[in-house]
Amino acid sequence: MFDNLSDKLDSAFHVLKGHGQITEINVAESLKEVRRALVDADVNYKIAKEFTNTVKERALGQDVLTTLKPGQLMVKLVKDELTELMGGEAEGINLSGDPSVILMSGLQGSGKTTFSGKLANFLKNKKTKKPLLVACDVYRPAAINQLHVVGEQVGVEVYSDEGNQDPVAISKDAIAYAKENGHNVVIIDTAGRLAVDEAMMTEISNIHEAIQPQETLFVVDSMTGQDAVNTAKTFNERLNFDGVILTKLDGDTRGGAAISIKSVVNKPIKFIGTGEKMDAIDIFYPSRMADRILGMGDVVSLVERAQEQYDEEEARKLQKKIAKNAFGFDDFLNQLQQIKKMGSMKDLMGMIPGAGKMLKDVDIDDDAFKGIEAIIHSMTPEERSEPKVINASRKKRIAKGSGTTVQEVNQLLKQFNQMGKMMKMMQGGGGRKMMQMMKG
Ligand code: GDP
Repeated sequence: MFDNLSDKLDSAFHVLKGHGQITEINVAESLKEVRRALVDADVNYKIAKEFTNTVKERALGQDVLTTLKPGQLMVKLVKDELTELMGGEAEGINLSGDPSVILMSGLQGSGKTTFSGKLANFLKNKKTKKPLLVACDVYRPAAINQLHVVGEQVGVEVYSDEGNQDPVAISKDAIAYAKENGHNVVIIDTAGRLAVDEAMMTEISNIHEAIQPQETLFVVDSMTGQDAVNTAKTFNERLNFDGVILTKLDGDTRGGAAISIKSVVNKPIKFIGTGEKMDAIDIFYPSRMADRILGMGDVVSLVERAQEQYDEEEARKLQKKIAKNAFGFDDFLNQLQQIKKMGSMKDLMGMIPGAGKMLKDVDIDDDAFKGIEAIIHSMTPEERSEPKVINASRKKRIAKGSGTTVQEVNQLLKQFNQMGKMMKMMQGGGGRKMMQMMKG
C-alpha cells in the first residue's frame, strides 16, 4: 500500500537530516519534495499545495526549543496534517432505523457487490445484527447471481426478484420483507455503469428518494486516483451521500484518492476494502492510514486482528500443553492456521513498522506456510504428538511424502524444538529468564 509515496516522503524528510534546526530555507526545500510526492501519488495539485502551506506555517511557528529534531518534527507535522486531511476521527455508519437501510452506490467494477457482502458479514459478526442483502441490478442477471454467491459465502440471506424491472419497487418490497422476517439491517446493492451517465444517476436518485436510507455509501476503486475523486463529486451532488468506501487498497494504489477524497466532497471515508475475500474489510482510521502512508506501519490494527482471533479457551489449553511438554505438531499447525486467519501475509507485514518498505519488492504469497504444512501433514499422528520419535528413516519418508527434502524436514524440527524451549521459558521463570538470555 502506498509504497511509492512512502519512499518519496521519506526522501523529503531526509532533506532535513543533519540540520540542527528548522529554517525557512530547509523547510521550503523539504516541503517542495513532499508536494511533489503527493502530486505524483495523484493528489490534486491544489490540495497538495494547501497541505504543504499549512505544514510550513506550523513548522516555522514551532518553538525553537522543541526537543524534536527537524526531520522528526516534519514527520510529525506531516502526519498530523495527513490525518486531518483524511478526516480526523473514524466515523461509523448509522444503524439507527429498524431496519436500518444502507444504500450502496458507485460505478460498475468499483467493488459494490463485494463490499455489500463484506459489510453484511462484518455486521453479522456483531451478533446483534441480522442483515438482508438486496439485489437491485435489473440489467445484469450475472450481478444478481454474484450477490447470491457472496451472500452464501457469508451466510446472509439475499433478496432478489428476477422478473421485476423496477429497482424502486424491489427496494421497497425488500424492506417490507426484512420487517416481516426480523432483519434489522438491509443492504441494497444497486446497478452501476462503467462511467457516470444520466440514466444511472436518475435511477439511484429515485431509489434514494423513495426509500430514504439511513446511510448512503459511495463505493470507489482507489486505483482510479483523481477519477475516483471526480466520480465522488458527481455522485455526491446527486445523492448527498453519507460516506465513502475505498476499495482495492491492497493493490498498487498510489494513494491520491485516500488523501484527497474527504476534502473534496467533505464526507468521511468509512471503510476500506483490502482484498477480494469477504473478511478483507477495515474501518478507516485516518491516523492509522497516515502512519501507513508514512511507512510507520499500523501496529494498532495488527494487534486488533490478533485479538479478534484470540480464543481464551484455546489459549488456556495451549498453556497447559506447553507446561506439560505436550505441545505437538498438531498444535503448531493450529497456530499457523490462526495466523493465516488474520489476513494475507503481505497485508500483515505491511502493518509492521519498517517491514512494508523492506519487503516491497518481495513477493510474499499466502502459500508461504505450504511447505511446513505439507511436512506436518506427512507425519503420522504419533510423530506429530511425539516428535522425538522422528528418526532418519522417518525423516526420509516425511520428505518424500511432502515433496520436500530431508534438510527442510530437519529445519522444521529444529525450529519446532527452539520454539518449544522458548515457550517453556516464557511459561516457567516468566519473561525474566528470557531477558537475561537476550542480554547474553
Ligand atoms: P461492482 O460491479 O461494483 O459490484 O464490483 P464487484 O464487487 O463485482 O468488484 C469488481 C472486482 O473487484 C471483482 O473482481 C472483485 O473481486 C474485485 N474487488 C472488490 N473489492 C476489492 C478489494 O478490496 N481488493 C481487491 N484486490 N479486489 C477487489
